[in-house]
Amino acid sequence: MNRHIGRADTHIHTFHGKHGDSYLSPEHVAEIYRQMNLRMLDKRRRLARHVIAITDHDTLEGALRILEYVYRQSMSEQEIYPKIVTGEEVTSLEGHIIGLYLKQHVPDKMSASETIAAIKEQGGLAVAPHPFTLLVLPFVGFGGEGMHYKGVGRKIFTLPFDAVEVINAPYTQTVANYWTKFLLAGYSVWHGKKPFAVLGASDLHFPVGATAYTKFRGTSPEDLYRAISSRKTKARGRAYGIPTLITGYEQCLSMYPSLVERCAEKKLPGLKSWDEMVPSNILNAIQYISETRGHPRRYLHQHVAYAARISTMLLGL
Ligand SMILES: [Zn+2]
Ligand SMILES: [Zn+2]
Repeated sequence: MNRHIGRADTHIHTFHGKHGDSYLSPEHVAEIYRQMNLRMLDKRRRLARHVIAITDHDTLEGALRILEYVYRQSMSEQEIYPKIVTGEEVTSLEGHIIGLYLKQHVPDKMSASETIAAIKEQGGLAVAPHPFTLLVLPFVGFGGEGMHYKGVGRKIFTLPFDAVEVINAPYTQTVANYWTKFLLAGYSVWHGKKPFAVLGASDLHFPVGATAYTKFRGTSPEDLYRAISSRKTKARGRAYGIPTLITGYEQCLSMYPSLVERCAEKKLPGLKSWDEMVPSNILNAIQYISETRGHPRRYLHQHVAYAARISTMLLGL
């Protein structure tokens, strides 16, 4: 019996995704998690990730690239990187569905049950990410055209999912996460059984915010597969807040020109324009924080006013 308890992050995006909504190259993702694992060596074990899954929108490309990148490192270095699971976040007609342990691309725009069947046919695991995401999104101005953030909602209880994300880390998901846990607790009490494994995942799109993870027995991808199949996982961590969001966008702002160049060079779907990617209220926040940084006292009243503005924005007032 494996005594080690591992941590996994099963929902990460690179800029190979079809909606062009991640700022991270596969190499950058690998380095982010390598850094977390290095810090683990300093005994901050909470930060370690033994297994990560790359789940770009409607393509396996990013997952394959990161595998190749880690494989090119020396053997001793490879030990520090997390083990990689190849996956995809598939846009089904009824919302996003993640396939983990995929060998082949799963087509988009199929029904949810067809998508799940296509994932399982190749031995993959079907996961419902952020199932109730739209609970909050109308208030914060996302969603809209394409509904890139759509979840499958209550179908988590009727379709044969192997796992469901009960913690999805982006700041917009706090309420939706609680709603998923609440419904799941009700279902489990009523039916006397757990319908699927539970996962915590970062849905990482920029360099910070890997604040949610899944605990499982063992440390390898095979151990994680077994833990999910037998519904013996634990979702841990939390959704991150506005300060993390702003730090993330600040870092992206400095990376952005070189990323655009790189995407054009590689003929990738590319990144959308900065204005389109970042809601104007966040842009204002970045500008504001850059201006006031280093003068915390002088700008205290403005910090308070700003916090109030963001709170009202989040509440949809
Ligand atoms: Zn999604
Ligand atoms: Zn995602």
